[in-house]
Amino acid sequence: MLEVVPILCRAGQMDNYAYLLVDKSTGISAILDASEAAPIIAECQKKNVKPQFLLNTHHHFDHVEGNAELRELFGAKIVGAAEDKDRIENMDIALNDGDVFELGDSKAHIISADGHTIGHILWYFPQDKVLFTGDTLFNLSIGGLFEGTPEQMWSSLQKIKNLPDDVLFYPGHEYTVYGMANLEGESGIKYAETAKKRLSAGLPAGPFTLADEKKCNPYLRIDSLQEFCRLFN
Ligand code: ZN
Ligand code: FE
Repeated sequence: MLEVVPILCRAGQMDNYAYLLVDKSTGISAILDASEAAPIIAECQKKNVKPQFLLNTHHHFDHVEGNAELRELFGAKIVGAAEDKDRIENMDIALNDGDVFELGDSKAHIISADGHTIGHILWYFPQDKVLFTGDTLFNLSIGGLFEGTPEQMWSSLQKIKNLPDDVLFYPGHEYTVYGMANLEGESGIKYAETAKKRLSAGLPAGPFTLADEKKCNPYLRIDSLQEFCRLFN
């Protein structure tokens, strides 16, 4: 079983999430998207864990800047997409689409998701029904197209839409409030209520299931490529 602990980084600025992942049966752990060292070190000390791996979704500085310090401190190995080998410093393990990464007994399937960047990857743990979407999918929105085309982003979102409804997803930023004004209908109201309740308790708005996200995220609701591309004109 995989334990997921969100760690808010760059709070009040970019509101990134790093995630501490602990494989419960072996105690082997990792940090996904080490945005900023200090809050991550504090959480690791609190939970008394020394992560063996630093997993990355993509090369942007707000997702990797803690890597160097955490690698030094914990002797952790940096893991990322082969396509980011020259852009994520000191990458020890390079992965490709379809690869399986074993964190103890927990298995992550690597899904390439071009769009926000070229070489962006999703980390999917099918046994645990958990998905880390980095800057591809946020609650109620998606990441900007820094390197890829709308067509590439579309095809990445279709991969997410094809995963099971009961998968919980964890995004790279807390951007939920920006999409909440546009929520409509019964499922939209329920989504907003849940998000507001958690946020006001000082928690992340998520995680939400992909079923909820497919119903409420305007970018996932669109079901034609043409219509999707029109958003970017
Ligand atoms: Zn990014
Ligand atoms: Fe980001």
